[in-house]
Amino acid sequence: MIFNYLKVEKPFSFSENIKAHSVELGYHYEALVDPLVFEIDAFPIKDGCHLNCKFQYSISLPCARCLEDVKLTGVTNFTVELKQKVGGVPAVVEEEDESDTQDFDEIFLEDELFETKTLVDEQLIFLLPERALCKDDCKGICPICGKNRNQEECDCQVEIDPRWSPLSKISR
Ligand SMILES: [Zn+2]
Ligand SMILES: [Zn+2]
Repeated sequence: MIFNYLKVEKPFSFSENIKAHSVELGYHYEALVDPLVFEIDAFPIKDGCHLNCKFQYSISLPCARCLEDVKLTGVTNFTVELKQKVGGVPAVVEEEDESDTQDFDEIFLEDELFETKTLVDEQLIFLLPERALCKDDCKGICPICGKNRNQEECDCQVEIDPRWSPLSKISR
């Protein structure tokens, strides 16, 4: 939903359907996100809007070793505050307070309009692991024949890096 976060006069709640899509994760892989329902409770604050957000997710991403799909599911709750940025600086600069244990992000915007679904991917990128493994002892793909070694053993001799050969002499 796109709304004007400066024109919120009273609290309101809404939910929106987010279509299946993919999220670019870097490291040459992407995650596929199943359709989900994004729920938001919004209420006005001085110069902006406070959002309590929640969604349940189901995501497939490739195992970092064998590239098989790994499914991750969960629920996330998070809070953000949308505030206006004027001339490159926040309109309201609050005093730094060391005891302030703020556990939400403030998003400073130049525009008056905000598209809520951008929060979903930001949150997913924050939640997703850098490396997913299908199982802790995934054997990965053989670098020589390309077989998935979880499914099939192969007889390939993986060459030992010559830098390690002094060690192999010692162990003999
Ligand atoms: Zn794997
Ligand atoms: Zn092999």
